[in-house]
Amino acid sequence: MDKNTALIEIFEKEGIECAAALPLSSKSSFKIGGKADVAVFPKNASELEFIIGNLDMPYIVVGNGSNILFEDEGYLGCVIFTEKMNSVKVESNRLHAGAGASFTAMATAAKNASLTGLEFAYGIPGSCGGAVVMNAGAYGGQVSDVLESCTVFDAEKREVYTLAKEEMNLSYRHSILSENKNLICLGATFTLKEGKKEEIDATMRDLMQRRISKQPLEYPSAGSVFKRPAPDLFVGKMIEDSGLKGYTVGGAQVSEKHAGFIINVGGATASDVLGLVEHIQKVIRANYGVELECEIRRVGNGK
Ligand SMILES: Cc1cc2nc3c(=O)[nH]c(=O)nc-3n(C[C@H](O)[C@H](O)[C@H](O)COP(=O)(O)OP(=O)(O)OC[C@H]3O[C@@H](n4cnc5c(N)ncnc54)[C@H](O)[C@@H]3O)c2cc1C
Repeated sequence: MDKNTALIEIFEKEGIECAAALPLSSKSSFKIGGKADVAVFPKNASELEFIIGNLDMPYIVVGNGSNILFEDEGYLGCVIFTEKMNSVKVESNRLHAGAGASFTAMATAAKNASLTGLEFAYGIPGSCGGAVVMNAGAYGGQVSDVLESCTVFDAEKREVYTLAKEEMNLSYRHSILSENKNLICLGATFTLKEGKKEEIDATMRDLMQRRISKQPLEYPSAGSVFKRPAPDLFVGKMIEDSGLKGYTVGGAQVSEKHAGFIINVGGATASDVLGLVEHIQKVIRANYGVELECEIRRVGNGK
């Protein structure tokens, strides 16, 4: 029996859902990527701890796969998907969510409880964990505005503990979890304020409308490809003004609707996307002397 099959047997005996050779394209908003040797879907923290305790191969934790480019060769290791850890609970003015809860579902639960603060999250296609790791934000709001604490499993120390917001090193698209891959978000608590349900609902609808009109939601993508290099520099505008809208490498294209997005117009590979990323970086460097850093995470080769 090979190593992967043996591992899957161990997990299945524990009642943990898993799969061999899972096509990662099916778990990526880009619809790109080779296969994961082993994929696991823990339902709770103890299953996740059990999985990590039994791994003798590289692993990566994935939420909704909306900020990731899985490489064409796939992942030589174990991909741990948090999607089954998706509880959302509102208590007074606090919202508690499991790592795999949808960010949009969290915004909806807050609205239903007449709590304001998470409207910006509506329409960001990530999970609670992915949003905390990236300090996700939109339209003037971000995770750090409302996060109270994050419970982590520290895979190095093999301990579960809770980090207060002040301990999270939150900054633009950055957190302590993006610095330290041993920290896995199990869930987070958000402090919200009482609001008027109709007003919260109106804001959420407005933000969704703005997304629909400005973003190429009709194509697979991973959202904005690059981080904003400075608060007053808009990447989409620089790419547009450089004449790159519609520029295509294989199946990957700079969106005509929003030049900050690379879209998969059909059959794009990770190397198409990476080729296009390099070309954009080269042109922007030449035109503006600015180094564009990728916001999307490249995942592959067991790294
Ligand atoms: C159409 C579209 C629009 C978007 N709009 C926005 C936007 O307005 N604002 C914005 O900020 N982002 C936006 N994004 C990007 C993306 O949705 C966010 O960054 C989101 O927070 C990523 O969450 P995820 O669960 O998909 O993370 P993933 O893509 O699954 O993972 C992202 C990173 O987080 C790590 N990670 C995920 N879960 C955990 C965990 N539980 N513990 C430890 N590490 C973990 C992964 O290893 C990876 O490094 C958009 C994407 C798309 C496709």
